Amino acid sequence: MDIFESLDAIFQPKSIAVIGASNRAGKIGHSVITNLIDSKYEGPIYPINPKEEQILGLKAYASVSDVPGDIDAAVLIVPAKFALQVTKECGEKGVKGLIVIASGFSEMGKTDLEHEMVKLAHGYGMKVLGPNIVGVLSNSDKLNASFAPCLPLPGGAALVSQSGALLIAMDTSTYTRRVGFDKLISIGNMSDVDFGDCVSWLDADENTSAITLYIEGNRDGRKFMKAAQKATKPILALKSGISAHGAAAAASHTGSLAGAAKVYSAAFQQAGIVQATDLNNLFDRTLALTLQPPLRGDNLLIITNGGGVGVLATDAAERYGIPLTFAPKDVQAELKKHMPEFGSAKNPVDVTGMAGTDWYVESCGYAITHPWLDGLVVLYCETAVTDPMEIAKGVKQAIDQSGIKDKPVAISFVGGERSDAAIRWLVENGIPAYDAPDTAINAMAALREYAKIKENAAGATEYKTSGNREAALKIIEGARADGRDSLTEIEAKLVFAAYGMSVTKNILSTSEDDAVRLANEIGYPVVMKIVSPDILHKSDAGGVKVNVKDDAGVREAYQTILKNAKAYKADADVHGVVVQEMAPWGTEVILGSVNDPTFGPTMMFGLGGIFVEVLKDVTFRVTPVSPVQAKNMLTEINGAPILEGVRGEAPRDRKALADTIVKYSQMVYELADEISESDANPVLVYEDGKALKVADARIILKKK
Ligand code: ADP
Ligand code: MG
Repeated sequence: MDIFESLDAIFQPKSIAVIGASNRAGKIGHSVITNLIDSKYEGPIYPINPKEEQILGLKAYASVSDVPGDIDAAVLIVPAKFALQVTKECGEKGVKGLIVIASGFSEMGKTDLEHEMVKLAHGYGMKVLGPNIVGVLSNSDKLNASFAPCLPLPGGAALVSQSGALLIAMDTSTYTRRVGFDKLISIGNMSDVDFGDCVSWLDADENTSAITLYIEGNRDGRKFMKAAQKATKPILALKSGISAHGAAAAASHTGSLAGAAKVYSAAFQQAGIVQATDLNNLFDRTLALTLQPPLRGDNLLIITNGGGVGVLATDAAERYGIPLTFAPKDVQAELKKHMPEFGSAKNPVDVTGMAGTDWYVESCGYAITHPWLDGLVVLYCETAVTDPMEIAKGVKQAIDQSGIKDKPVAISFVGGERSDAAIRWLVENGIPAYDAPDTAINAMAALREYAKIKENAAGATEYKTSGNREAALKIIEGARADGRDSLTEIEAKLVFAAYGMSVTKNILSTSEDDAVRLANEIGYPVVMKIVSPDILHKSDAGGVKVNVKDDAGVREAYQTILKNAKAYKADADVHGVVVQEMAPWGTEVILGSVNDPTFGPTMMFGLGGIFVEVLKDVTFRVTPVSPVQAKNMLTEINGAPILEGVRGEAPRDRKALADTIVKYSQMVYELADEISESDANPVLVYEDGKALKVADARIILKKK
């Protein structure tokens, strides 16, 4: 049995056993049987309970081994202490997958028991969903194998949630929010079936059109990213626990560690996953992603009958980074025909409060077919003289009649009950409609982010290293043989150079005369720095002298550096003083790497210099970083304009910088077993065509 066969059994069981079924109302074992019956599940249901003859009118069995027919999935509701015994019985019976609602495992510190259950299940080819979950719900399979009250409002989305309580709450709220889901999957402790498995399975599921994830923490980040990269359906994720406070709450909540916000954002981007910022945002975006095609291109036209909502939409567009441009003159001229004299054909197109259904229909019908347009947002303010439902139907008809299916449309109606009814009608007829203009723009932003993110993720497939791993390993082994778990700047720069990065020339001196000779060899001016594995922040120790201009200066610097180092740390192991080529002034940036518990080696880029810790103007990626992603990193930081050249300064060599990011990422990716942390701070970046220079390098090794 392959993984997919077992997942099929868990998500679409042909027959189901409920171990721990109960006749007592209020028990989970009672709810699950009730829910299976109420959802009109069509396969056989086998309640398992040694003390009962019948449960809710169904014949009960003492054990799965007594069940006459095959069992596809078994729902486990027994106390944790019986988990292993029951798993074994299921395995012997030939059950294909386990839905473990039971709690009392890793979330209570019983991690070993959880591992043992999974190991045992795998021995029989069974996958385990859970434990500590609400269950599985599927409209298309008429399956409510959970203790959530009802099947969700039918629709195209599938939700995978790490929080059970939230899943139950979201379940009923699908009706009031009018966002339809085909499946709700509770993933709980994620002992076996994880987000990656769910994404792969749902991507192949014909009843799912968009995948929505509520993530607290993820274990195998790389597997998850791979599954998402391969997916052909939109994936939307809400990651909670991104604040320092939230991370602590999430950790105690599910027993899993929440990764850092920036790293998750990076991973989502690289894997082609659209992000939601909060719960409302999640529902609003889910609706758009299930109902509409991606927004491919930036030519978004807003049509409105009110200036106010038009301005609010414009503000929202800016917030979401959607540039609004005016339509070409011919489009404007045509649109002008469908509005009064004082209307505006710019963007937003204001057909004015005088607009009836006709003007909406004519302008929408015309605009959607025009090759210039990539997406359409229709805004409406309820007025006394117009009928929202008539406008909704008119707009929908105009779009249908255009025959255009690959351009997204989102709508906002602001008003009372009549507008609300029109919104409901639109959603039921496949158009995402909202009660506020900024929410309609948010929907369009999600469709735009999806298109962009997929495009970027696609460029990330090729990997061609520019590094010499063997040479780098030799240097690392040298330091290890020396009993160290950090490299000196000289060694670190050699590793960087082995990966093709441009570093300053540096040579170690162990005497004043030596230093003078090397300085003359390198050429004045030079930089001199302390070399000691015990002094990582050299400036703090008074261990850096820049712009040393002559022999006398070298002698003085040599003595001062050694004296300062001694004062800073008397017992420091000092290798000597490095004499270094003085790199010309350039824009200081920082590159760095850390090992993330979820995603492994990740890297950072940002504006460097002494304020880096204060400004925190940095952006992350999971390594290796593709050339496309490296370029994106350069535009993501707040200080991006500095690289583009401000106040008469020439633009910096962004090509060289992006190239260095790629190389750096390859270094930390290929040496993931060796490097625990690293940074290049500063990297001095010069004007276009003049490349850059790594002026300082640091590598901390993993302890072995
Ligand atoms: P630290 O260990 O304190 O980070 P650095 O090697 O980064 O020490 O040196 C401190 C500062 O000196 C750098 O931020 C940079 O401005 C300057 N600097 C260091 N090395 C060079 C060099 N080779 N060329 C030019 N400037 C340098
Ligand atoms: Mg430094």
